[in-house]
Amino acid sequence: KNVLITGGTGFIGKYLTAELLKKGYSVSILTRNGKPNTDRISYYLWDVSEGKIEEVAVLNADYIIHLAGENIVEKKWTAKRKEEIRDSRVQSAELIYTVLKKHNKRIEAFVSASGIGFYGAVNGEGICTENTLPANDFIGKVCQEWEKSADLMAGLGIRTVKIRTGLVLGKNEGILKQLVPIFKRGFGSALGSGKQYMPWIHVHDLCSIYIEAIENKNMTGVYNATINDSTTNLSFSIGLANSLGSPMWLPNVPSFLIRARMGEMSNIILTGRRVSSDKIKKLGFRFQFKNLKKALKDCLK
Ligand code: NDP
Repeated sequence: KNVLITGGTGFIGKYLTAELLKKGYSVSILTRNGKPNTDRISYYLWDVSEGKIEEVAVLNADYIIHLAGENIVEKKWTAKRKEEIRDSRVQSAELIYTVLKKHNKRIEAFVSASGIGFYGAVNGEGICTENTLPANDFIGKVCQEWEKSADLMAGLGIRTVKIRTGLVLGKNEGILKQLVPIFKRGFGSALGSGKQYMPWIHVHDLCSIYIEAIENKNMTGVYNATINDSTTNLSFSIGLANSLGSPMWLPNVPSFLIRARMGEMSNIILTGRRVSSDKIKKLGFRFQFKNLKKALKDCLK
């Protein structure tokens, strides 16, 4: 069976491709930059803003996993950047929908990334479930539109799954790629109050959830993908410093400094919420990395 991954060249996509190949799937990747094909990976081009796509990528697919999206924290949130963040997730799904519809092609499942930013900032101990209402801030709205664009496939009768993902931990990738060099030099510290919850997931578990989502016909709708272990920004920072053997000695970076530097984007790191993963666990899914220390140890080895 063939799995088409949009944005398959990114952090999660690379891990997922490797896991899928191990399980005997062939993988196709939709990317903006061509690459030579290998035995079992085929690359196809698209340009979302131009509405261009190599349709054969979609026509050959049995499953589609939609990971494509401009990086959320890489650049300042100007009006133009906000559009890029939204369009790279929403218009891209719409483009795939157009191809599926035009050719009356039915795939077995469409699985889309989403984020726990859907829930926005939740004060106190309240735990967000998949039924919690969305936030009204920029990321909350992007997540809603992103999930709605995935639901277009459901409208074609295709089983559709949306994975609301926490902060993903992987070796030399994502958040750890940013933080490890700083913490190694002893300049790590918690951000803001440090009390904001930071639901996380190991990339290995996230890939297993994506594979479960394509293989398990009972999986449909939204699932949170996080460990709900009440990790806060402070406990995460201490955990990382300890794992690296570079004790944390600096005080928290004050919120006002982060706000002054990052503007609206600072909400992502200064606010948090607890997120339940009971729904996916009830399905029988078992996380391999439930303990932050163990997850960090694996990512830093
Ligand atoms: P990456 O930034 O590593 O990869 C995303 C991929 O999307 C890129 O490799 C790129 O592929 C593609 N892409 C970027 N911009 C565009 C664009 N304008 N048009 C088409 N494709 C584009 O992200 P991750 O692997 O970390 O994340 C994958 C998805 O999961 C993202 O949507 C992200 O928001 C979501 N997510 C990630 C979390 C994390 O902690 N990493 C947490 C929660 C959600 P190419 O350059 O080949 O075109």
